Amino acid sequence: MHTIDMDLVEMTLDVMKYTIDRISNITPELGAPKKEEELLRIVGETITPEGIGGENAFQLFRDVLVKATVPIDHPRHLAFVPAAPTRAAIMFDLVTSASSIHGAYWMEGAGGIFCENQAMKWLVSLTGLPETAFGVFTSGGTAANLSALVTAREEWREQKPDFARERALLMTSTGAHSSIKSMAKVMDADVYLIDSDEEYLSGDQLKDAVHNLNEADRNRLFAVVATGGTTNAGIIDDLQSVADFCEQEKIWLHVDCAYGGGALAADSVRHLFNGIEKADSITIDPHKWLFSPYDCGAVIYKDLELAKKAHSQKGAYLEIFKDEGAQGFNPADYQIQLTRRLRGMPLWFSLAMHGTNKYKEAIERGIELAQIAAEKVKKDPNLELMRPASLSVVLFKRKGWTAEDYRDWTYKNHNAGFALVTPSIWKDESVVRFCFINPDTTEKDIDEILETLH
Ligand SMILES: *Cc1c(COP(=O)(O)O)cnc(C)c1O
Repeated sequence: MHTIDMDLVEMTLDVMKYTIDRISNITPELGAPKKEEELLRIVGETITPEGIGGENAFQLFRDVLVKATVPIDHPRHLAFVPAAPTRAAIMFDLVTSASSIHGAYWMEGAGGIFCENQAMKWLVSLTGLPETAFGVFTSGGTAANLSALVTAREEWREQKPDFARERALLMTSTGAHSSIKSMAKVMDADVYLIDSDEEYLSGDQLKDAVHNLNEADRNRLFAVVATGGTTNAGIIDDLQSVADFCEQEKIWLHVDCAYGGGALAADSVRHLFNGIEKADSITIDPHKWLFSPYDCGAVIYKDLELAKKAHSQKGAYLEIFKDEGAQGFNPADYQIQLTRRLRGMPLWFSLAMHGTNKYKEAIERGIELAQIAAEKVKKDPNLELMRPASLSVVLFKRKGWTAEDYRDWTYKNHNAGFALVTPSIWKDESVVRFCFINPDTTEKDIDEILETLH
């Protein structure tokens, strides 16, 4: 399988040509899904005892299958949280694969982990956490949130051994991401949701909620999760007052900045995150707003040792890694995964190549595009802005439209291969939601999308 033959050379050329063409193309074809039966009818069974040949398989991917996907980096993809990995990061993703490095332990991965840690050092510096803080790259925000919350839960058990057999309870707001509830389920923990009708969670609201708990529940409370940029609206909780309260009450504060974390690098909005420097743990997704390819999340801890206590795996065949000579930073010790890809390497290479200023500029552009779009919405008599643009999210209404109208409009633009913009809900009303990430999105793109709402 490993011997170089002519087939392999040809396949390599095909793959490299495809890759270079794809990353040079700023407006890749906006594909759409097909039913599985339909795809099978076109390409046939691809796994056979003899193999169908690399050239053939690649052709099926290039000509059929990739066209049944939506390129998340298309400049008119404003749905969900889009992405816009840099070319440098994508190329280095190939290098990461080609280098076959095991990313769990320093003994095997030292040089690669060094790269990841360089990138992590910059991420940590954006948070303002103390020198002792550090983190590790994960598969995404969900895994980062789980890793942080398990660490918090273990620390709570350590601090309150009398309650160690109780179900743990975490508190968050209605603006929090679905993964928080989902990971609480994985941990078999309960969730107390504070209704943030004020749009963001404040220290006062948190204080009321905590003081209203009965004693048993207060003792079960192991963490508060605040959000640094809600996924739906880009709203940042009042981290300062929330952090002050958590500090006073000795409750673990986790700040989920999976989407918004990139904006920590943007001077124009950095003050909105004040208080984050008091967090016990933070999630940031480089695959969202730091231009990394999928998948790459990050979890950062104020006290890294607590993460190690929670996550370090033990086993006869792993003991060697704890040995002198293998000493160094072992990423496996700080999150839920053992064998791991060096997910931070593409981010490292791209940061090293471009410098952090380029990142600041690209993130500021996303914020600016949201401001520009909001102004255009305000001037349009058919449209109504629901709230000021926040980070890179804009929520607005097409006057007179029902939920079905928004849905039909989404499909129409998508089927035409023009844009992917999806509706959302804000305060019980259907709205259009724009989320900007890609700095190559133009004002003309915004104008053309708004025109489709007439
Ligand atoms: C996207 C997101 C997540 C989940 O991250 P994944 O990388 O999709 O696992 C968690 N929290 C927030 C605030 C998010 O925006």
